[in-house]
Parts: sequence; structure tokens; C-alpha cells
Amino acid sequence: MPPLPKKKHSRARKGKRNAHNSIESPALSVCNGCDSVIQPHRICNFCGNYKGKTMPGNWDLDNRLESTTSG
Ligand SMILES: [Zn+2]
Repeated sequence: MPPLPKKKHSRARKGKRNAHNSIESPALSVCNGCDSVIQPHRICNFCGNYKGKTMPGNWDLDNRLESTTSG
């Protein structure tokens, strides 16, 4: 016979425990290259900008940062 809890936990106790388990929306920031909303610490999906440089990839030329060679 396994060890069992001595008493039933109340609904209030269960609710207090689960109060921290909600899903939060991701943090958002603005891209320096194309001013679109992106997730911080990630490459921009629209222009490939990261830390002021355009990362290698097949990005749209219209959205690209212009100072790619100076970095
Ligand atoms: Zn961008």
C-alpha cells in the first residue's frame, strides 16, 4: 500500500496552487530595421535584422537594413 495523503486538499488550496500556472503572452519589442513587432533576442522574421546586422537568409530586399557591410 503506497503512502497516501491524510486529508483531501480543499478547492481553495488547489486554486491557490494553480494561481501561478496561467499562460502569459510573450514579451514583444520593435525591430530596428523594419519597425515590426518581434520577440526580443530573436532574428526579425521580416527583414532578418539582429543586433543591427542582417543575418544570412532569403529576406525581402525592401525590408532589409541598409548598413549590412559596415558591421
Ligand atoms: Zn525587421
